[in-house]
Parts: sequence; C-alpha cells; structure tokens
Amino acid sequence: MSAIKGILGERCPKCEKGKVFYKKGNPLLFTMPRMNEHCPVCGHQFEKEPGYFFGSMYVSYGLTVAEMIAVFIISFLITDNYALILLIIAIMAVLLSTFNFRLSRMIWIYMLDGKDRTV
Ligand SMILES: [Zn+2]
Repeated sequence: MSAIKGILGERCPKCEKGKVFYKKGNPLLFTMPRMNEHCPVCGHQFEKEPGYFFGSMYVSYGLTVAEMIAVFIISFLITDNYALILLIIAIMAVLLSTFNFRLSRMIWIYMLDGKDRTV
C-alpha cells in the first residue's frame, strides 16, 4: 500500500519522503517534467545508468492504451461520431502526456528500485 502512496505522491522509493520531480511539466505550456538526480532527503540516485528509464516507455504505452480505451468507451456512450471520438482521444492523450510521463517513471522506479531492493 505504501508503494501505491509513494508512486502517486511521487516520492523517493527508499525514504518515501524526498520528491522525485522538481517540475511537474505542463503540456499546454510545452514544458516537460524535470527529475531530481538524487533524492533531496536521503541522496538516493534515481537514474542508475544512462537509458535507465527506457523501459518506462513500455509502462507509459500501457497506461496510454488503457486511458484511450476508457475514453473511447465513455465517448461512445455519449456520441457515435467517430471523428469526434478520435478528436477527444487525441486531446486526452496530449493533456495526460506529462501525467503519464511522471506516473510511468514512478511505476518503473518502484518496480526496479523499491524499498525492499538492495541494489
Ligand atoms: Zn530518498
């Protein structure tokens, strides 16, 4: 349960206090989320090696597909205009892009670098 709390709160997987991101990013302002290199509380290094977060793209892909299916089902209940549904899905994908970026990296960090891991 604390892992889910840590993922959603974007906290360090080791101490669960330090913030992983210092900038949340905003898709409307074209700003990307920015990560701390080390935990500001315990000094834990988040990016172990170059390309460490490459695998989080697969997590992001899964999240995006799940969100698109959910938005499609909800939109289809409201309208049967497929062009409009496609537009709604595209807008949703852009608006949730930074959220997915942060969430996928947090899930990745907690999967590979959780509290019980020693590496
Ligand atoms: Zn920490």
